[in-house]
Amino acid sequence: MNPIDVGGVRVGGLVVDSQTRCAHYRGPLDVIAIRFACCGDWLPCHLCHEAVADHRATPWPASSRAEEAVLCGVCGTRIRIDSYLDASSCAACRAEFNPGCRLHHDLYFA
Ligand SMILES: [Zn+2]
Ligand SMILES: [Zn+2]
Ligand SMILES: [Zn+2]
Repeated sequence: MNPIDVGGVRVGGLVVDSQTRCAHYRGPLDVIAIRFACCGDWLPCHLCHEAVADHRATPWPASSRAEEAVLCGVCGTRIRIDSYLDASSCAACRAEFNPGCRLHHDLYFA
């Protein structure tokens, strides 16, 4: 399963299905991937980054809210950081996002 292609985006890390669930976060609502600010790689989660990258992850600066750095693993839509932070579901396909991810936002977005 590694890497997978979702809407033309290549998602690596420890992916376990076609909707970007990974070895660490594989619940029904765990359907997003993040483009990491440090390397530009699309990965399901920070632990995947830790597993495959040779460097520490750096969060997107607050000035980068317009970057399309979030991917809906269900429909392949790329989502702006500011839109994602305001959303509980995908605007395109209505897939719900895991509310628990909010606990980890500071790992991805400063
Ligand atoms: Zn990186
Ligand atoms: Zn992971
Ligand atoms: Zn979607």
